[in-house]
Amino acid sequence: MTAEGKPKALNILELYPEAMNLYGDSGNAEIMARRATLFGYDVKRLQYNSVADKDSLLAADIILGGGGQDSAQREIAGDLEKIKYELRAAVHEVPTLVICGLYQLFGHYFESKDGNRLNGVDIFDAVTVGSNERMIGNIVESIELGITRGGKKDDTLVKIYGYENHSGETELLGDQAPFGMVEYGYGNTSEHSGIRWEGAITSDGNCIGTYMHGPVLSKNPLLADYILSKAVRNKYGESLTIEGQEATAELDKVSMLAARASIAADEAARRDQYS
Ligand code: GLN
Repeated sequence: MTAEGKPKALNILELYPEAMNLYGDSGNAEIMARRATLFGYDVKRLQYNSVADKDSLLAADIILGGGGQDSAQREIAGDLEKIKYELRAAVHEVPTLVICGLYQLFGHYFESKDGNRLNGVDIFDAVTVGSNERMIGNIVESIELGITRGGKKDDTLVKIYGYENHSGETELLGDQAPFGMVEYGYGNTSEHSGIRWEGAITSDGNCIGTYMHGPVLSKNPLLADYILSKAVRNKYGESLTIEGQEATAELDKVSMLAARASIAADEAARRDQYS
């Protein structure tokens, strides 16, 4: 709350929701908005679909972007080029989560399997090339952000669950950090030998790219709180606090449902892996 007792504002921006919204990814914005409200913030939902929406992008406190077919990626690539520098500046202040097709375009380039190369925005030191194999199925991975509800850091590893569907194979270059280590599923490539990595994360932990659809935040409330806690720390210098019994009860219920869903996802991922 502000000194006058009003809820503090939080701007949640969806990046290209009209073109890049596969497999329920826009649900991430719904989930983030609801959780922010339960933690006592007055949420404003923003969208960026073209450079005409640049003011919204610059006002974002959280940026969320979804996946898209090769054709959708071609559709937005030209506009993405126009906000490359704003995005690269934003992600070091504004916690950002991009899924699959936008994750690929946050690297240096995405080249579809027919050789059509789209420039990325160079936020991740990574490149993606389309393959003949489609990597589809449940995915389970361990992420190194030891986090608990409210985004408070602790030392435990966290398992997260999602669903992947991509032909692109992403190679992390240099010392680009992966987002997680795959337990079941594909991850960044179809390579199945050795440790399999998935996604990417910037060194400040502020920008996460992952192949996890779902929407990924539905099964992973801790990841949502990790992002949300960064946003409120950036904007207000505070940590997340739950506003009241009703909010606590709703967050507890979501945690229980997510735990149930993760058990099912874990079983499905094992089945996918060995089917
Ligand atoms: N078109 C990209 C691929 O197939 C991304 C797909 C997606 O966003 N699910 O790899």
